[in-house]
Amino acid sequence: MVLKLPKSIGLSQHSAHHYRGKVSLLNHQQNKESQDVSLKKQFDVEEVRKDFPILKRKVHGSPLVYLDSGASAQKPKSVIDTVSRYYSEQHANIHRGVHHLSQEATQAYEEAREVIRGYINAKHSHEVLFTKGTTDGINLVASSFGRKFINEGDEVIVSTLEHHSNIVPWQMICEEKGASLKVIPINQAGELNMEEFKSLLNDRTRLVSVTHVSNSLGTINPVEEMIELSHAKNVPVLLDGAQAVPHKHVDMQALDVDFYVFSGHKLFGPTGVGVLYGKEDLLNQMPPYQGGGDMIEKVTFEKTTYNSLPHKFEAGTPNIVGGIGLGAAVVYFDQFDEKQILDHEQDILAYATDQLSQIEGVKFIGTATEKASVVSFLLEGSHPFDVGTLLDQQGIAVRTGHHCTQPLMDFYGIPGTVRASFAIYNNRADVDALVAGVKRAANMLL
Ligand SMILES: *Cc1c(COP(=O)(O)O)cnc(C)c1O
Repeated sequence: MVLKLPKSIGLSQHSAHHYRGKVSLLNHQQNKESQDVSLKKQFDVEEVRKDFPILKRKVHGSPLVYLDSGASAQKPKSVIDTVSRYYSEQHANIHRGVHHLSQEATQAYEEAREVIRGYINAKHSHEVLFTKGTTDGINLVASSFGRKFINEGDEVIVSTLEHHSNIVPWQMICEEKGASLKVIPINQAGELNMEEFKSLLNDRTRLVSVTHVSNSLGTINPVEEMIELSHAKNVPVLLDGAQAVPHKHVDMQALDVDFYVFSGHKLFGPTGVGVLYGKEDLLNQMPPYQGGGDMIEKVTFEKTTYNSLPHKFEAGTPNIVGGIGLGAAVVYFDQFDEKQILDHEQDILAYATDQLSQIEGVKFIGTATEKASVVSFLLEGSHPFDVGTLLDQQGIAVRTGHHCTQPLMDFYGIPGTVRASFAIYNNRADVDALVAGVKRAANMLL
């Protein structure tokens, strides 16, 4: 699929007009040229590395080699500065005050929502809901959509690849409603069995909820086809985009997806903030998730009427600085040409796969044809935890364990893997360090 680049890079015309040229909180290098694809900034990994201050530090006396972006990505200076500037100069509560600071903070927060809307090409900014993260977004849909649309005897489809946060919320609502969870199987490479998926779709299916990209294996699922197949049966689709958005643009209108969730912290933004995109029509039919301030229109003890979208789903004081910081992260990531980022990450993936495969005892878990820049492996005869610990002593940060995907580890009959996940700031030298580290670990452990 060709992903359409969003028109709004930084501030869109719409929001610029809407906010009548007030001072922007987003610390972006916005210019008219960046709206043209051909004039995007040239991607140069060594330049990118300079934007991430943490990459200069040492761990256990060695330069940090950060290969755990799948768990949480590092932050560019523009995000750090935006967060710091917000607290130093602009903080107040939003959506309520008549005073100047409150209006400025509200403007910045809503401007961030608009930046994200443009980035994911949602039709309306009120379809972009701020959440605490991917987990929170899925729980919101499971709870609210589930309460309204899932009943006894109904079915929800997930896959073997799912993160626990796209399993447990569905188990909870299914148990409550007497519905059941159906699981799309995978092959040894870690790819979905599409024939099985087709046969699982039936008139009891209420929702298909699958990951766009697997966090443990890197598998990129054929989501366009899955959405088409589901819609042919009138079944809405939720995509867990936590591992997709840090690597490429996603286009809500081109995908025609019904719900899409992701976390700010994996997209170079702050923790504690994320996004749930939902189609207006569905969100309007769904009951509120939580009750409280901001989500109401009028409250009496007899009856409360709810606020319109997006506020209906955003009860209480939100993570204001998180939303604004995420807006800055999107502006940062969006300045580069997508194809150059993908080419770079695929080069790192191919290089890492090739180099690691030359070490005796390394066994890859997850060898899908379509993969994001993640390598999961085992050093046969050793425990992933021991490999991770030895790598850490050399300043190399990888994730070890089940990666919140225990059913997937059960499928492979293993307790976990060593996972190196690469982001825009990783270079071939990082791979060389990893390979040297794994060789050293192999010498010590085997
Ligand atoms: C990280 C991750 C989650 C959970 O995200 P949180 O930020 O912890 O809420 C869910 N799904 C996938 C695929 C992930 O990688």
